[in-house]
Amino acid sequence: MATLHPGCTPITMLIRSCSHLLTIADRLLFPPSCYHCQHLLAAEEQFLCHDCQQRCLQQPHHCCPCCDHPLPSTSTSDHLCHSCLSDPPPFLWLKTAGIYTDLLSELLQQVKFHGRPGLAAPLGELILEQHLDTLQQFSPHMIIPVPLHRQRLRERGYNQAQLISTHIAKALHVPLATTILTRHRATQPQPTLTFTQRHTNLRGAFTAARHPPQRILLVDDIVTTTATARACSRLLTRHGHQVGVVAVARARLDSSR
Ligand SMILES: [Zn+2]
Ligand SMILES: [Zn+2]
Repeated sequence: MATLHPGCTPITMLIRSCSHLLTIADRLLFPPSCYHCQHLLAAEEQFLCHDCQQRCLQQPHHCCPCCDHPLPSTSTSDHLCHSCLSDPPPFLWLKTAGIYTDLLSELLQQVKFHGRPGLAAPLGELILEQHLDTLQQFSPHMIIPVPLHRQRLRERGYNQAQLISTHIAKALHVPLATTILTRHRATQPQPTLTFTQRHTNLRGAFTAARHPPQRILLVDDIVTTTATARACSRLLTRHGHQVGVVAVARARLDSSR
């Protein structure tokens, strides 16, 4: 006689089997297609087809192991960038799924400015595809999305970083925390500012509530100068937290508009 796991009754097993069969039937009747090119997805593909996914996951030849900043094409190995050497960031590491170019920039523009929140899950999946090992090794206690100011949240109707975080939190079985970090001051949109202005623009924009020290995964959509990731991580590390950062894309200063 088969051994049942605790809490796993014949009825729950029957419900699970039926649910699995329904999922298969649903996939046969309504085959899912790629979020971008609409090609039908193969059984092992989720959200994006293999070709579209590979276009999104492009990585620079060499990058800074701390902040993921792409290094000049003349670099022959990964090494710390000038910014991390001269002003070490408060986060442990920052990882991005790909470069803000081509299809990845198009998808991010769609989710941010063209009312397509459904693209957040495929974008979160790209982060998992590229960095699942790092995230599992870090084993965060909670996931915190970079918050939007309430005025921007009202205008857009959703925080894309929170939607991306939700997908990652579900996959890693880690709780999402949306009340610890707050953006209490409306700031100028970062893409309209220079490198120096971006850092001063965020001064005092965020607050972090007290919470017992934990490992926190901070999630954002696009990283350019790391000013936002640094500002949020600085507050969290002051409370004793360890912070790792993930974002969908790494943009150059002139490309995130
Ligand atoms: Zn596709
Ligand atoms: Zn760096």
